[in-house]
Amino acid sequence: MQNGFEPRVLICIECEEEFVFTAAAQQYFAERGYTEDPKRCKSCHTQYKKMQRDQRHSGVVMRNGVK
Ligand SMILES: [Zn+2]
Repeated sequence: MQNGFEPRVLICIECEEEFVFTAAAQQYFAERGYTEDPKRCKSCHTQYKKMQRDQRHSGVVMRNGVK
């Protein structure tokens, strides 16, 4: 079920890779009241979240997680 949402291709601000903002993800965003598009691909977003949790570690290694 798509509920009117269509997958869109966006560019990640971290790795500058294209990623798909899926219909399910758009619905999830809409349900939570988010009006802005995601800025990071899934792997960068996961890493970003993890980085926020691990912020006291200073030397964060950014992986170029290209699949
Ligand atoms: Zn990315």
